[in-house]
Amino acid sequence: MRVHICYTAIMNKNDILIIHGTAYREMTKQLLEAAHLSDMIGSKNKKIALKPNLVNASSPSYGATTHPELAAGVIQYLWEHDFSDITIMESSWVGEKTERAFYASGFDHLCEAYQIPFADLQQDSFRLCSSGGMKIKVCEKALDADFVINMPVLKGHAQTHITCALKNNKGVIPNSEKRRFHALGLHEPIARLNTIVRNDFILVDNICGDLDFEEGGNPVTMNRILGFADPVLCDAFVCDCMGFTPDDVPYIRAAEKLGVGSTDLEQARIRLLNEPEVDTGGFPKTDRIQKLASHTEEREACSACYGSLIHALGRLDEEGLLSRSFPKIAIGQGFRDCAGSSFGGCAAGVGNCTRGFGRFCPGCPPKASAIRSFLETLI
Ligand code: SF4
Repeated sequence: MRVHICYTAIMNKNDILIIHGTAYREMTKQLLEAAHLSDMIGSKNKKIALKPNLVNASSPSYGATTHPELAAGVIQYLWEHDFSDITIMESSWVGEKTERAFYASGFDHLCEAYQIPFADLQQDSFRLCSSGGMKIKVCEKALDADFVINMPVLKGHAQTHITCALKNNKGVIPNSEKRRFHALGLHEPIARLNTIVRNDFILVDNICGDLDFEEGGNPVTMNRILGFADPVLCDAFVCDCMGFTPDDVPYIRAAEKLGVGSTDLEQARIRLLNEPEVDTGGFPKTDRIQKLASHTEEREACSACYGSLIHALGRLDEEGLLSRSFPKIAIGQGFRDCAGSSFGGCAAGVGNCTRGFGRFCPGCPPKASAIRSFLETLI
């Protein structure tokens, strides 16, 4: 893996760091070095809390939960920079015991190997906080942390389309409050919650998050880890990566209005720490993903490129726009030397590697929203 760390200063609110590959622990450390996380934290005495997404009792390969290798990378980075007061905290969704998710996700092995305490927030006490007149119960351990590293999974959600940084903080409130959030329609309370809780650094697990559902089941391999200092910018970027816009997810706009952050991707500085990598292990596909993949011709595609195409096809499928007659889409480095208006049964391509086609969606990799717009022109 070639890594180009080009950062000399602490990261800004509008920076987006991206690293590709499959050595997740090492990638995490490299990304944190590039972000100068230790300078962001400051004093070595601070209480640091890691907040993964352990929504249910499933392996991270299922597309719902944070890979423990990312937490291992964070802990090693923190130790190497002389931080020692580290806790991992989480509360699974209503109906699931956090303890079961802790074991199923592999965080039990991590905590044992590194001797890091795990705080089950379903067992925690809470304090009543306020945002613009809305009272919200927040778990005490989350409020007591001096620096929180939010570690969501980039994935779909049945009600809100996407879930990432902002919604991951629902895991720091009691179950009774989670139920109340749903009764209130989710969006306004999620935005309000993020005016109270900390989002000091956001480390996004974009390894294989789910296409549609927060509980997983249809993982889309992308093999990326992303870093942000702004949770709103994070979620706006995630929309772009999944074929949505922030207008499709009201809590993102609401959080922006409340001053939590900015959705302005035009002003974002994207820092690619390395190039996308060709997936050498193949793409394990569920029936749902296979159906979408049947519209593609893949030859040595990078994970991030192919995953973006799958997300874009997923959005078209949800709108009923994918028929059997939809043309096959070429993708991958194996198409670099192909020229002509069609090749290999494909009428169009996705990614710069397919520029030899008469019609292609540029980018390396292109984002799902751009691919979606391009594919709509083929219908
Ligand atoms: S355009 Fe080609 S090199 Fe770039 S991400 Fe896609 S497959 Fe990889």
